[in-house]
This record gives sequence, structure tokens and C-alpha cells, in this order.
Amino acid sequence: MRILIVEDETGLAEAVAAILKKERYSTDIANDGQTGLEYALTDDYDCILLDIMLPKMNGLDVLSCLRVKGIETPVILLTAKSEIEDKINGLDCGADDYLTKPFSTGELLARIRAATRRKGIPADINPKYGDIVLDIKKGEMICGTNSVVLGRKEFQMMELLISNAGNVVTKDKFVIKIWGYDDDSEYNNVEVYVSFLRKKLAMLNSRIQIKTRRGIGYCLDGAR
Ligand code: CA
Repeated sequence: MRILIVEDETGLAEAVAAILKKERYSTDIANDGQTGLEYALTDDYDCILLDIMLPKMNGLDVLSCLRVKGIETPVILLTAKSEIEDKINGLDCGADDYLTKPFSTGELLARIRAATRRKGIPADINPKYGDIVLDIKKGEMICGTNSVVLGRKEFQMMELLISNAGNVVTKDKFVIKIWGYDDDSEYNNVEVYVSFLRKKLAMLNSRIQIKTRRGIGYCLDGAR
């Protein structure tokens, strides 16, 4: 799961990102409306947390623009108590929900789960492929009675491979979804992490293999 946080209060944005990372979500932060819109238009997110009062472009304009362009990513508006009018406008513009600041961690996570579930994005169902299951709560990959703990990035890569089972996941997609846009120095790490995952699949005696499609990316094989 990848979540975009569009919020100009950097302290709040970073605190939210830290909470979400702990829950194994990937996050990107945009500190103004225009950047938020640019990121959101890539359609690479499962949920967007969108502040209303933002520099360069306000949240409601960002939201309208996204919906006009056909981006249906669930959007949860972050509003101050005084912005009741904005909340109503926001829901009219196509927001899925809103959170009034300050909000608790539990409320934030519950709203994200609800918003993504409504759009049919499975948030807390353990992904399965062939003989392996990913345990989201424990961060483990399980095969029969064997299990192994995956690092956060390993887990996200495996999740991405499973959700795209039958298709090739490009290297670019891994980089965008897992490392985000800020860091291009980690491009080659995709290969390194794939090799970690291959070792762990072998350790589990799984029949699943990560195949290389040279010059394109990776895909899972061995479900049958
Ligand atoms: Ca703000």
C-alpha cells in the first residue's frame, strides 16, 4: 500500500508518515498543492491524505482536478475544526472521507482502511500466491509450516509482485512504489532485494520463483 500525504505543516506530515511506515505503508510527502497534484496524477497511490489549506493550490482544487482527470484514488481530507464548509465542499468534490485535526493514530488508520476497502483495495487481507502467504501483521512470508521475517522493503516488493501476479513488474515501478521519487541512488537496489527474496523463497522450500525478464523487470512463477 502506498499513501500520498499532501500537507504543508512538515512536522505533521512527517509524524503521519512515521506512523504509516510503522504499519508497513509506503509514503510520499508533498508540501504544497501543486506538487501533491503532480504526484497524485501518476496514479501510483492507494490512498491520498489531503490537507485543504495548502500553498500554491488548495486541497479542494487538487481534488477536483484529480477527479476530472479520472483519478479515482481514495482521498481523505485533513481539515481544521473551523473548516466545516470546506468539508461539505470536499465531499461534493469527490472526497471519500475527512479527518479533523488533531486526530488520533487509531482514527487515522481506521479511516485509511475504510476508504481503501470501499474502493476494493484489500488492505488487511494477507496476500497469497501459489504456496506462499504474506502475513501483514507479522511481516512474515509463510510457506506451509515454514516462515521467514521480511524486511520492510522486501515485504513491499513481494506484495507488489503478488498483486501483479501474471504480469511483469518493471524496475521503474518498484523504484517508484517502494523507494519513492526522492532517491534515485537506490535504483540498483531492486536487484539486490530480489536476490534477498530469492534466497528466502529457497529457504522456505517454496515452489515460487522470481523470474527476471531481462531489460523489463520481474514476475512470479510457480503457482501451479
Ligand atoms: Ca495547511
